[in-house]
Amino acid sequence: MIAYDDVLARYEPVLGIETHVELGTASKMFCGCATVFGAEPNTQTCPVCLGLPGSLPVMNGTAVEYAARIGLALHCDIASWCRFARKNYFYPDMPKDFQISQYDEPLCTNGFLDVEVDGTTYRIGIERVHMEEDTGKSLHVGGPAGRIHGATHSLVDYNRAGIPLVEIVTRPITGTGAAAPVVAKAYVSELRDTLRALGVSEVRMERGNLRCDVNTSLMPRGGTAWGTRTETKNVNSLRSVERAVRFEMHRQAELLDAGGRVHQETRHFHEDTGGTTPGRSKEEATDYRYFPEPDLVPLAPDAGWVERLRADLPEAPAERRARIAQRLGASDRDMRAMANAGVVDLVGATVEAGASPDDARNWWLGYLAQQANADGIDAGDLAISPAQVARVIELAAELSTGLARQVVDGVLASGQEPDAVVAEQGLAKVTDDDTLGTAVDAVIADQPDVAAKIRAGKLAAAGALVGAVMKATRGQADARAVHRLILERLGVEQ
Ligand SMILES: [Zn+2]
Repeated sequence: MIAYDDVLARYEPVLGIETHVELGTASKMFCGCATVFGAEPNTQTCPVCLGLPGSLPVMNGTAVEYAARIGLALHCDIASWCRFARKNYFYPDMPKDFQISQYDEPLCTNGFLDVEVDGTTYRIGIERVHMEEDTGKSLHVGGPAGRIHGATHSLVDYNRAGIPLVEIVTRPITGTGAAAPVVAKAYVSELRDTLRALGVSEVRMERGNLRCDVNTSLMPRGGTAWGTRTETKNVNSLRSVERAVRFEMHRQAELLDAGGRVHQETRHFHEDTGGTTPGRSKEEATDYRYFPEPDLVPLAPDAGWVERLRADLPEAPAERRARIAQRLGASDRDMRAMANAGVVDLVGATVEAGASPDDARNWWLGYLAQQANADGIDAGDLAISPAQVARVIELAAELSTGLARQVVDGVLASGQEPDAVVAEQGLAKVTDDDTLGTAVDAVIADQPDVAAKIRAGKLAAAGALVGAVMKATRGQADARAVHRLILERLGVEQ
């Protein structure tokens, strides 16, 4: 494969990212149906979202408010008057065969979002934020990997049909060079944090609350005309965004180097291989025959209402991180580590609950991150609160780190408070010399070669025996007392 440096020596990447966000409203965009995730198929439907003749849509006010707040957080202009349009198409999972969307009159336009990568700030232009309804979901049965090819039949679930969506479209992203894949990932990450702070969506990528299509093209260095772009669809994790861009940069560079041309098409990203494969050709523009939706009144947000929304915006994630960094006294490097692990807020809240910044950071980046990793979830989804972590940190000072970890395990497994776990499991530090002495003797007998080294003056070897005693006592021994006892038993002067 062509080296990444060679790709960059000859080409400049140009990206564009379209993000669909499912809004977290209680009801759908144009009807009163519920939007609960994971409900029995086709239990959250009505004549409107099934597209039955004669049914009429009614706009969801909360969805409009959420869309406007997203636009304001992304520094967009909010239209004072705009309309919805019908996008006509054959949708097996949208039986009225058109989607109500916004076309040439989006609610929000002309914004930006700043993202920081390794100390450099990239301003990502936002072309538009518009509203639309989601389609239903097709399930292809009997074929490989749930694909339509080779399937014996398909099932449709209309629970998702009509869920409010917001589509956020960037302007072409240029000038990122080698950082392009990382900037793409950082943009989606910052956008996700912004949406989460606004409270407008659950933004769980694995549930499809946030779905990205990533456009990639290469422009020859020194050239002025942009290359042909491909659109990689439904890239469903932050890591995949970065991989998809990198893969397309390599693939297109190889193609262009060989004198070929990039086809304008959609491509599918594959999590397992990290590659993309061709989908639908986009060489000819599809004509969706948009026209204004006659069943809905135009949307005309009141200027005063927009200003009230603007005044009520939450603190932006970047500002919040800066504030927390200052309070924690954390270095840029520490902040980056915490941001990458998604624990900035958690560390901040743990400090607010009384822990020291260093302890809070070490626990969230250490043992808690390991537990989250083992479960394949975000640290923020662990069943332990910052206040509970603060209490565990207090207990660690009284008990030991090993015991404190057992308290965390207990909280995660039982949902109990840390003190209840301590009481129930009888977790207490063992300090009396008689009990510890027995454990120390057993370990010395078990590892005579280590004992001999210590007798010969290699005091550092005592650590191995301390560790063995800690393990034998399930972390309950007082490590300092154990260390003293080992040296005493082996007759080493302290
Ligand atoms: Zn409905």
